[in-house]
Amino acid sequence: MEKKNIDWSSLGFGYIPTDARYVANYKDGAWDAGGLTEKATIEMSECAGVLQYAQTCFEGLKAYTTADGKIVCFRPDLNAARMADSCRRMKMPVFPEERFVEAIVETVRANKQWVPPYGSGATLYLRPFMFGINPVIGVKPATEYQFRVFATPVGPYFKGGIKPLTLRISDLDRAAPKGTGHIKAGLNYAMSLYNIVDAHEQGYDENVYVDSATRTHIEETGGANIIFVTKDGKLVTPKSETILPSITRRSLLQVAKDYLGMEVEERAVALDELESFAECGLCGTAAVISPVGTIVDHGRRIEFAGMGPVIQKLYDTLLGIQMGTVEAPEGWITVIG
Ligand SMILES: *Cc1c(COP(=O)(O)O)cnc(C)c1O
Repeated sequence: MEKKNIDWSSLGFGYIPTDARYVANYKDGAWDAGGLTEKATIEMSECAGVLQYAQTCFEGLKAYTTADGKIVCFRPDLNAARMADSCRRMKMPVFPEERFVEAIVETVRANKQWVPPYGSGATLYLRPFMFGINPVIGVKPATEYQFRVFATPVGPYFKGGIKPLTLRISDLDRAAPKGTGHIKAGLNYAMSLYNIVDAHEQGYDENVYVDSATRTHIEETGGANIIFVTKDGKLVTPKSETILPSITRRSLLQVAKDYLGMEVEERAVALDELESFAECGLCGTAAVISPVGTIVDHGRRIEFAGMGPVIQKLYDTLLGIQMGTVEAPEGWITVIG
């Protein structure tokens, strides 16, 4: 199969439309058969539910080429389950989980020429999403929805080497107790934009959000979960109902336990105890783990090892599992072609 003529290693993280995307429509209480289309634009009412009241949620995962030349996806069933949770919380109809995985597979198969080769560091990013499409003016859930999956090739995350991040403890919040922090809704991002632009202007890479009720515990950043490594080599990650359950973080916890024999703690993490950690990293689909060098809590600076030995081992093992050089747990890799 001919690949597209792209310099994969110089790609950034931007939208490049590919040949095909998947579309299914929900109307009169049922999903239609769905299928692939070449059309990358959407026509809808000016009064569509998504435009007026932001009724939309999304997912993100990647397809890539393994060391032995297979095109695969990593744990798409967990994206399907998480999107179902998001839909229930947003009063949107669930797109059946088996059909979600099938839509991913169909989209990747139709865009095989866009899946970057092994070793390039690039991947084909997949963006499933759903939104209310019929006119809604009185505040209520839409009655008609569209589910779509598009694909876009993205470059290696750590272009030009791994540079440890500098984070700041945020004074603004992303999620309220009993709110929507635990689902992947666009609204969680819309209200974080002000704060991320401000963080960049002040010279920080990301905001670390704390629990908004007491402002004493660490939650996560705007788009990634946080892991810490204690000085005696334990993996610690914050537990909170307002954190988005990252598939990467959940996978890393299992890798730490089952592959590296580490002790793992999922518990409340106090701002006060940051000095007791040796390493810190952000985890998400795009980078797997981004090492953190510094967290600034107003006048206080806490330094970490950056790509320290434990984070490096976690990163290498999970990346090896994804790329097929380390044996994967049952069901983690979905082979597409
Ligand atoms: C998507 C997302 C993550 C990372 O989740 P993965 O499943 O690992 O990609 C973390 N935090 C937030 C707020 C997110 O939206």
